[in-house]
Amino acid sequence: MDVGILALQGDVTEHARALEAVGVRPCPVRRREDLSGLDGIVLPGGESTTLGLLLGSSGLRQPLGKELHAGLPVFATCAGLILLAASVRDGRRDQWSYEVVDVAVRRNGYGRQTQSFETQLTVAGVAGGPLPAVFIRAPVIEHVGAGVEVLAALARSDPDGPLSTPPSAVGRSEPVLCRQGAALVAAFHPELTADRRLHALFVSMIREREL
Ligand code: GLN
Repeated sequence: MDVGILALQGDVTEHARALEAVGVRPCPVRRREDLSGLDGIVLPGGESTTLGLLLGSSGLRQPLGKELHAGLPVFATCAGLILLAASVRDGRRDQWSYEVVDVAVRRNGYGRQTQSFETQLTVAGVAGGPLPAVFIRAPVIEHVGAGVEVLAALARSDPDGPLSTPPSAVGRSEPVLCRQGAALVAAFHPELTADRRLHALFVSMIREREL
């Protein structure tokens, strides 16, 4: 199975290692020709504004959008999630997104780089107990549409904790891993840990579709 990784910017190598570990061939995508023959694609974390600009200058913006809207399975993490969201809050004025997944996200909603944190998440349908999740200037998923399944949520509980949760947000629970059809989106970075269960889940989503 050949799975592309958008390789313009961001944590491409880590996703490639994770994909290899679950038995598929990672294929870097830098030009439109690289899109042919893929069974799925990963949109990595990085910087959504930079990725948006590079998608434009590389000529990939339109052809990738066409594939995504035609249902190419996609696993998008952090900035990748922002690229897929139906609406982006706190974006740059010229920020655009593919509007493939019916979620509204707020960029950097979990705070700045220094407020990065790691936590454990229980994921619906994934056996083996909670998995580690690294959040780095992550987007907050503020709204999900009716067709979106929430697979994991993060409770904001501690106003003095690593999230620096404002007291007004304490007790709120926000989706951080969602699925809509063949799209899997995470606000965090599963590729930065040694746990491969979400990459394995993505591969099983591709297999389901190909049956
Ligand atoms: N804050 C970044 C953005 O807006 C995303 C950060 C990340 O991917 N780790 O694109």
